[in-house]
Amino acid sequence: MSDHQLRVSKIRNGTVIDHIAAGQALNVLAILGIDGSEGYGLSIAMNVSSGRLGRKDILKIEDRELSQSEVDVLSLIAPEATINIVRDFEVIEKNRVERPDRVSGLLSCPNHNCITNADEPVETAFEVISDGVRCNYCGTIIHEDIADHLAVE
Ligand SMILES: [Zn+2]
Repeated sequence: MSDHQLRVSKIRNGTVIDHIAAGQALNVLAILGIDGSEGYGLSIAMNVSSGRLGRKDILKIEDRELSQSEVDVLSLIAPEATINIVRDFEVIEKNRVERPDRVSGLLSCPNHNCITNADEPVETAFEVISDGVRCNYCGTIIHEDIADHLAVE
């Protein structure tokens, strides 16, 4: 078994997110709404050497798989990430993330006058552009600090 396989197959069931840009692991956890209080087994490796990226972060989350909308937002802050789904210690599926054309619902618009922040809120929708995301309703652009604009459930 190669070093790589050994590293990603240590958990019994769950998800290993590999090749996260160094320093983004905690933002990825924020996207998934995981703060450690849910009881998921969790391991975080930060600033690990990686041939492809120089330095990277790795997250292992037991008994948790990701929804497509979570993967879509994750791709915005960790575009090189690979998502390994583990069942019975085996990686049964391995996917690169892909930047979606748009994300709905998971981010909130920083513009307080935006219709998505009104008393009867409309679900947010952001178009993904080369250097961030743009609100479909008011045109506000969010650049690097996407994780700061996660909609709170
Ligand atoms: Zn807006």
